[in-house]
Amino acid sequence: MATKYAIIDIETTGGLAKRDRITEIAIVISDGKKIIDQYDTLIDPGISIPYNITRITGITNDMVVDAPKFYEVAKKIVEMTEDTIFVAHNVGFDYGFIQNAFASLGYSFSKRRLCTVRMSRKAFPGLKSYSLGNLIKHFDISVNDRHRALEDAVATTKIFHMILEQKPSEIKERKLISEAVALTRLPEGITMEYIKTLPTQTGVYYMSNESNEIVYIGKSVNIQKRIKQHFSKVDNKTDKMLQKVRSIHYELTGSELAALVKEAVEIKELKPEINKALRRSDYPYGVYLVEKKNDYFKFKSAKLTNAIENQFEIISRHSSARTAKSFIKRYTSAFGLCRQINEIEKDTGGACFEYAMQKCLGACIQLEDPSSYNERVLEAAEMTNVFLEPNFVIVDHGRDDTEKAVFLVEEGVFKGYGYISSEDVFLGIEEIKESIQYLKTDKQITSIVRNQLSTNTKLNIIKF
Ligand SMILES: [Zn+2]
Repeated sequence: MATKYAIIDIETTGGLAKRDRITEIAIVISDGKKIIDQYDTLIDPGISIPYNITRITGITNDMVVDAPKFYEVAKKIVEMTEDTIFVAHNVGFDYGFIQNAFASLGYSFSKRRLCTVRMSRKAFPGLKSYSLGNLIKHFDISVNDRHRALEDAVATTKIFHMILEQKPSEIKERKLISEAVALTRLPEGITMEYIKTLPTQTGVYYMSNESNEIVYIGKSVNIQKRIKQHFSKVDNKTDKMLQKVRSIHYELTGSELAALVKEAVEIKELKPEINKALRRSDYPYGVYLVEKKNDYFKFKSAKLTNAIENQFEIISRHSSARTAKSFIKRYTSAFGLCRQINEIEKDTGGACFEYAMQKCLGACIQLEDPSSYNERVLEAAEMTNVFLEPNFVIVDHGRDDTEKAVFLVEEGVFKGYGYISSEDVFLGIEEIKESIQYLKTDKQITSIVRNQLSTNTKLNIIKF
């Protein structure tokens, strides 16, 4: 489907979107080459039009007294601009007013935008002014009624067509246009209008296929924006989504940490197929334990395959072979394990270098008993699950002002999370514990919580 543009011009009672109102709107629909539709109407602003504005626009109070109110033409505007890119001369102005007008009806109006002021600057460098009046004069565009919405919108459209005729390489906005085009690719049954009803808050979202099986789980601090991003990309993941996804639902979490934990728990539980394919592509390397000759456990890193994941418990996942190896190095030295067994050093057949330094207890030459060595290996593997501070609660904001999200770490282990009313946070640890939904201990979730603790400064900690 070709890209459609809605070139829009409005007249108002003044310059402030928050204070002033729209008195006229004109919409010209273009395919980039020619005008295919147009619409123009006066609008009763519900407030009086100042005389100095009337002098500019020619729109008087008498003219709008029988005109429709904005809510009466809102549906028409939505229908006309559906699947279009919003174009205007100084687009922030027109877009701002229209967005405000929709917001007052409880509707969130959101479109890709192009500004013909910015585009003209790039396309026609060296002009004294890029005001609509000056461009009309410069290009000798015929206009009957300057400062009436339809005439200005048509003039803007002519300028816009001229811009698009320029060589693509000269116009950066081409990229913006192609992104906007990509956004028009949506899965069957999912419309842009539906996506716009999704919340712009923090939570977890679920994409399901036609048999209602969840095929993808994600989290975002702005669900609507993230879903739009998903469909505006051009890659394998997007193709898969376009192919499989037929419905989207969501759950708000308030707290970002709660969204991260919920996402991880549910991906693990439901194993959505698109996530599965993705996890492997984001973190293709893993560390896991294998048994070396003579019964010693060994940390191994490798590019993960189905066979490996089915057979071994993956201790940690990495984006590169290098970070997987350095993870092994860190744990080898922290727990006095053998560098030779863990293949950081080449197996010489004799003792490792660290043995001479008395940092390895000699597992390499079977001096240390496998059972005592392996105990330390398991302890090291287990450590990826543990917090240094043994008992504390993390408090984050909840799904609204009346509640908080709480996360419990007890005896160094992340236990789970839940929601509690804001006042009850101060009643004590037993009250908090009652609101916790307990989860299985999990390395990935532990590392998510750790990571948030070190990066999210808004979290509050209560020790107990
Ligand atoms: Zn050794």
